[in-house]
Amino acid sequence: MSEKESSLNFIEEIISNDLESKKYESIITRFPPEPNGYLHLGHASSICLNFGLTKTFPGSTNLRFDDTNPTTEETEYVESIKKDIQWLGFEWKNEFYASDYFDTLYDYAVKLIHNNYAYVCDLTSDEIANQKGNHTTPGVNSPYRNRSIEENLSLFEAMKNGKFEDGTKTLRAKIDMSHPNLLMRDPIIYRIKHAHHHRTGNKWCIYPMYDFAHGQSDSIENITHSICTMEFIPHRELYDWLIEKLEIYPSKQYEFARRNINYTVTSKRKLLQLVNEKFVEGWDDPRMPTISGMRRRGYTPWSIREFCKRIGIGKRENMVDVGLLEFCVREDLNKISKRVMAVLEPIKLTIENYPEGQEEFLTTENNPENPEEGTRNIPFSKTLWIEREDFAEFPEKKWFRLALGAMVRLKSAYIIECTDFKKDNDGNVIEVIAKYFPDSKSGSDTSGLKAKGVIHWVSAAHAKTAQINLYDRLFRVEDPSQEEGDFKDFINPNSLTVIQNAYIEPELAHAKIGDYFQFLRKGYFVLDKNSSIDTPIFNLTVGLKDNWK
Ligand code: ATP
Ligand code: MG
Repeated sequence: MSEKESSLNFIEEIISNDLESKKYESIITRFPPEPNGYLHLGHASSICLNFGLTKTFPGSTNLRFDDTNPTTEETEYVESIKKDIQWLGFEWKNEFYASDYFDTLYDYAVKLIHNNYAYVCDLTSDEIANQKGNHTTPGVNSPYRNRSIEENLSLFEAMKNGKFEDGTKTLRAKIDMSHPNLLMRDPIIYRIKHAHHHRTGNKWCIYPMYDFAHGQSDSIENITHSICTMEFIPHRELYDWLIEKLEIYPSKQYEFARRNINYTVTSKRKLLQLVNEKFVEGWDDPRMPTISGMRRRGYTPWSIREFCKRIGIGKRENMVDVGLLEFCVREDLNKISKRVMAVLEPIKLTIENYPEGQEEFLTTENNPENPEEGTRNIPFSKTLWIEREDFAEFPEKKWFRLALGAMVRLKSAYIIECTDFKKDNDGNVIEVIAKYFPDSKSGSDTSGLKAKGVIHWVSAAHAKTAQINLYDRLFRVEDPSQEEGDFKDFINPNSLTVIQNAYIEPELAHAKIGDYFQFLRKGYFVLDKNSSIDTPIFNLTVGLKDNWK
């Protein structure tokens, strides 16, 4: 075995063998979202797997909207899903909709009836469930199980033609009511639902169940490897049975474990609750584990792909530490983000010996990690904003920032020494006063002075005001779904802190959505979509250091 082969995950291993044994010339996979919500990090793992396989091996991947449930699906979700997959960096060969197969699926159902493999049942879904039996008791045959083929054909057609009310009849596969696999005990494959569908409108009032649509759609598209999550293992037997009885393309189902991330929830149903009940601003709230939320938060496509690669594919469900995701995005942003200065909680710094009204432009590197990004000039003047926490009235030991008599370097500018400070009537420090050393300019420092600390600043006369959104984890417990009670009781009340009046260097007034920034000493930030010319809004992507563990 070559080294490349030995590092394959178990699904890649299967495919590699299938190609080697010439079972297939090339493969076809699909990503089959139900358009009932926005994609989240769990989906990202499935996307990276399905699309990644056909980057590694010859073949192609379809995007298939599994839109067989008319009541929960919306066009908005379809559009967001397409955008997210593309943004992640993947291309589908075909865009398909399971609803486009409704005619074929209907014909398939008729074929099953013809061959005595399906029947129309008048029991309610509750009655069917009650007659199913359990692992130790066999189920009870439906009294309608032995309807003639002719009667079944005409009843099924009448179902299609809207002759019956919702819930009054179903079509069931005729398998075995004492089968050890409960899903094989005459499962429902069609139900009546007089509902509008986002694509087929009011054409249909019967809809196929998941098990009857999914595998059949795979066959229609000649999917070779149909990959889903572990909860579908018991469905595999039905998947194979239906394909066999319909004599259609033998797609094969493989399962891998769901990926869950701590301090969040990855279930569309739960995320929808957060949206509907206004715990967050919307599906793309930067605290959401959705792809669109993470994009708005400043995550890069690479960082999400890298995260999915590192957590890999397995057969056992596990909880992945969000710290790994943060590690991945830091790694990317460190390489690509522009270094800028912003003061989040400002206090005024006056340089007493700097001439009033003078300004100068100091050269600073855009990104020390990538000299090709060049330099820019930042304005400097007598009055600056610095971070309140960079001055201490009563400095602790080994304090390297500003305090009376202490020296620091202003980043890309001069060394200064604090000479005084002013307080308001309540005793709050409101201004720091310092002198600067003209011969200590960065890049041409001949002063011989040594300053241990470097602090960031912006020139008050040139600065722009910005709103800064600081984000923390959305939940205060590792696994909100496992806690007793409502998962929403475990939302972190401090997941968003808004700073209204931060000061940013003038350069940042030209920021565009999708530009990545490192605010020196503060973290990585990105411009929010709700920004206006007057008030740019920056979202914290992640801090510079892992301060969680
Ligand atoms: P949810 O429970 O959030 O609604 P789902 O599985 O019902 O998720 P689908 O739209 O049916 O969502 O999923 C599309 C694909 O994404 C499926 O193949 C599914 O297995 C996969 N997927 C969904 N969640 C995860 C996850 N947490 N980890 C890995 N794959 C996932
Ligand atoms: Mg689903």
